[in-house]
Amino acid sequence: MQFKSTRSDKVPVSFKDAVLHCLPKNGGLYVPFSMPDMRQFFLHMDADTSYSELVSAVAPVLLHGELNPFSALRVAESAFDFEPELHYINEHISLLNLYQGHTGTFKDFGMAFLAAVMEELLKTSGQVIALSATRGETGMSIARAFHSRRNIINVMLYPEGPIYGLDPKDFVPNGGTIIPIQVKGTFDDCQRLVLETLQDRPFAERHSLTTANTINVGRLLPQSFYYLYAFTKIKKQLKGDLVFSVPCGNCGNLIAGLYAWRFGLPVNSFIAAMNQNNTFGDFINGKSFSTRAPIATVSPALDVTVPSNYERLEAFYTEAPAVMRNMVFPITIDDPTTLATIEQVWKEHGIMLDPHTALAFAAALAFARTHDSAHSIVLSTGHPARTAGIVHRAIGIQPELPVDLAWLQTTTKPIASIAPSLDSLEAALISCF
Ligand SMILES: *Cc1c(COP(=O)(O)O)cnc(C)c1O
Repeated sequence: MQFKSTRSDKVPVSFKDAVLHCLPKNGGLYVPFSMPDMRQFFLHMDADTSYSELVSAVAPVLLHGELNPFSALRVAESAFDFEPELHYINEHISLLNLYQGHTGTFKDFGMAFLAAVMEELLKTSGQVIALSATRGETGMSIARAFHSRRNIINVMLYPEGPIYGLDPKDFVPNGGTIIPIQVKGTFDDCQRLVLETLQDRPFAERHSLTTANTINVGRLLPQSFYYLYAFTKIKKQLKGDLVFSVPCGNCGNLIAGLYAWRFGLPVNSFIAAMNQNNTFGDFINGKSFSTRAPIATVSPALDVTVPSNYERLEAFYTEAPAVMRNMVFPITIDDPTTLATIEQVWKEHGIMLDPHTALAFAAALAFARTHDSAHSIVLSTGHPARTAGIVHRAIGIQPELPVDLAWLQTTTKPIASIAPSLDSLEAALISCF
């Protein structure tokens, strides 16, 4: 499988190039160039297939010529010491729990694969610096996934404020592989600096720069694997249509689901579940895309009005607008409904949901009112303890923090603090190496 830019399909590149030089020369973002039909490789799998078995069977076919079956097995086994878990509730609805990774969100799945596959791709040549904008648990997710991976240094840009979840033992001066740098500015400044540095081609090439942010298609592609996995677990019980309900922020999960569909996943619809920040739904409904300032809600990871994967989705829609319109259903859920759903699911099923999952759950219930033969798999994207305050507000009980997540409460100091400008960052990078 090769990759092309969302803005030009003239020169497809290899997976290795897309992962290690993650911005296309002509701008845009990398997306798959052609999507192989993978049905023969996963349709025979059943509920006994483990996640790393599925990944090590599917990845070498997708990345044919770049990742042989032995390398794929090494990648899958070293990446995944955690698995998704399908929780069947009744004939209409299931939860796909994706929060068993080290930082309690689905993002650990993409990050773990990216780190392991990068190490594998670099086995024969070179060293890279992954420059990423981080806040909250993203930094911890990177630190855990890239922990002691050879030939990769992670430079993480943090906005002003405390830095959580890192162990100074992992810092480069102490023999580790990470360099946290604080930027005197906002998270948006950090994201802008990552882009500007990668766009400074001579500098990026001289220092072999890439990123662990979702601009990197190497983080997005593996998210399609858990959709295939969910299907292998549910297929025996499935009678009617299969629907995935996906909470949408930057839309990485949604686009990965659409890739899974193109790989042959027998799915009928996707619900793009959104909070009040639903400008993106207008676009799906065929209206022009207009941006607004984001509003704060009880599902903060979805408070995004310009999804970073917008160009990737647009590319998908441009190819087949009618198919997409019949396949992806945007549903908006307000805060009171999200909170009421946390309470309802707790009372009816004894399951604690985080607000992002509850929102997707509510959207699936709304969808079911007009599609009563469908089975919805709700992506459970976050551990409820990450948003303990909101869960407590809904049900009066404080979810317990697992040991790994307790790390998120420790604070550390950055190695350097810089002005929010390209010059300052490049000077800091040069002085680090
Ligand atoms: C990041 C995140 C989301 C949003 O996912 P996107 O791929 O950005 O759409 C949803 N839920 C949780 C818990 C998250 O951390």
